[in-house]
Amino acid sequence: MTDYRLRLPGPTSVPERVREAMARPILSHRGPEFTAILRRTEELLQPVMGTRNRIFFFASSGTGMMEASLVNILAPGERVLVATHGAFGERFAEIARALGATVDPLDIPWGCGVDPGEVRRRLSAAEYRAVVVVHNESSTGVAADLAGIGAAVRETPALLVVDSVSGLGGMEMRQDEWGIDILVSASQKCLMCPPGLGVVSMSEKAWSVVQRTGGLPRYYWDFRKARTSAGKMETPFTTPVALVAALHEALGMIHEEGLPRVLARHRRLSALLQDGCAELGLAPFARIAGLSATVVCLCVPEGMDGKDIVRGMYQRHGTVIAGSRNKLAGKVIRIGTMGAITEGDIVTDLHYLKQTLQWLQETRDER
Ligand SMILES: *Cc1c(COP(=O)(O)O)cnc(C)c1O
Repeated sequence: MTDYRLRLPGPTSVPERVREAMARPILSHRGPEFTAILRRTEELLQPVMGTRNRIFFFASSGTGMMEASLVNILAPGERVLVATHGAFGERFAEIARALGATVDPLDIPWGCGVDPGEVRRRLSAAEYRAVVVVHNESSTGVAADLAGIGAAVRETPALLVVDSVSGLGGMEMRQDEWGIDILVSASQKCLMCPPGLGVVSMSEKAWSVVQRTGGLPRYYWDFRKARTSAGKMETPFTTPVALVAALHEALGMIHEEGLPRVLARHRRLSALLQDGCAELGLAPFARIAGLSATVVCLCVPEGMDGKDIVRGMYQRHGTVIAGSRNKLAGKVIRIGTMGAITEGDIVTDLHYLKQTLQWLQETRDER
């Protein structure tokens, strides 16, 4: 599998160091050897999340953490404002509806960003339990102005719930400073680990809602249990110890490189890929400033189908990129610029993209 290049916006390729950390003997999840690793993992993750809150770890994909964030703060029928400017925002709205919330979508055209002024207007017009925003819309390549949104939400009783599954570790995150009440993420994107480990941290404002009586029923996801266990440096149920060992190693790598350097590398390499793609005639899907530094989402040229580009990249170059599985299917292609990527990866991506586009052009001309 040496010529297999995983270039998706998640899961991302896992560095050898991290894979080796996972191969070590499995430890008791309540023994001193493992709780030391868990403690250090939390300490290393706090600055990446920009928080001094405790961090809870769950065996879960990102979507599980999205559900966990809402099931812990809602009571039946409560109102939430959900920014729906991409597939993950829409998923968040679906989860909220499934939990019996009254969902007001903040309808924004896909490819555009969330306007903090609009959030402020909506918050003054109705009372909300929560404002729900995706930090980095992986379906469109747009990042949210969380500082601005946080400032709007902070003055109200509403909680700010943020999905940074595809941002955390690749884009700046300042949970405490920006006033994010619940921040969820997962292991398989910028954090350079395999899928399966979810992380969440909550503010004191969120905790006061989480622990009230009359909220939704919950068990596995219950943050009250997680908080009690965190007091003993444990998780309520069996911890995915190999994945925590992986995250411990990956965070060690981030801290060795230096978080500011890691974030600058994501910005630089993402700009490099965007510029190179523009030269190949692939324009960004979003027409705004505030593009993601971790996902490049590109419009497919007229007369071409994105699925053919994705297939060509895989079959001819062993390079796995993403298309789209929603209303943009066939119209966009997406490439991750997240995690353990180098300039060499981007140069290689561009080379293969150029060849794939030429090949598609030629086969079309022959027909
Ligand atoms: C990848 C991703 C998720 C998580 O999806 P899972 O498949 O459940 O891990 C959630 N939100 C965003 C923005 C993502 O990019």
